[in-house]
Amino acid sequence: MSLSEITARIAKACDAAGRDAASVRLIAVSKVQPPERVRAVLDEGHRIFGENRVQEAASKWPGFREAYEGVELHIIGPLQSNKVRQAMELSQAIHSVDRPKIAETIARIADETGACPQLFLQVNTGEEPQKAGVLPAEADAFVARCRALSLPVAGLMCIPPVEEEASLHFALLAKIAARNGLEGLSMGMSGDFEKAISFGATHVRVGSAIFGQRETI
Ligand SMILES: *Cc1c(COP(=O)(O)O)cnc(C)c1O
Repeated sequence: MSLSEITARIAKACDAAGRDAASVRLIAVSKVQPPERVRAVLDEGHRIFGENRVQEAASKWPGFREAYEGVELHIIGPLQSNKVRQAMELSQAIHSVDRPKIAETIARIADETGACPQLFLQVNTGEEPQKAGVLPAEADAFVARCRALSLPVAGLMCIPPVEEEASLHFALLAKIAARNGLEGLSMGMSGDFEKAISFGATHVRVGSAIFGQRETI
């Protein structure tokens, strides 16, 4: 599938949901993709990309940024404390703020540097033990904690369990965001971004549908 097909599908999903197509941002998830595939998407004019590993982002994106103007990089994968500073330097948004300790580290570095990417707080809507994010019952307190730290909280993010109906998780995330006065909803991937849009997604994270299957690492 190509970038323009995905863009067309997003526009159609927005239309069906009575939403403006400009209200959904497409994050092209370029993790593990060979540079020539990423370059092809840059050459088509796309500028918003997502990476789930800070190390990989650091090795790829400074070069692409030099070659292409206006690149916006979103970090979407779990963060270790010792990678937070680098993630903040590299990115315009972090979607995987998944625990108070990371929020505190971000706040400390933001105080020091005077700059902070947009933040999305990750909620483990499926309450899966192996998955990052705060539990739904802890989400309101986590939002409040991040606001108390003066962090720029743009919204919430979730990754539904693979074997469950994603709609329930998208609806839950939207409900938690609404009651906390948050507009940003980072949800929806290659298999379910249209559904996510119908539940209010503002940022969809689409990888394999744009770039083709990833070779596993
Ligand atoms: C890899 C990844 C995606 C994209 O997944 P696809 O199924 O390839 O679209 C989205 N979100 C996160 C957090 C990811 O790690």
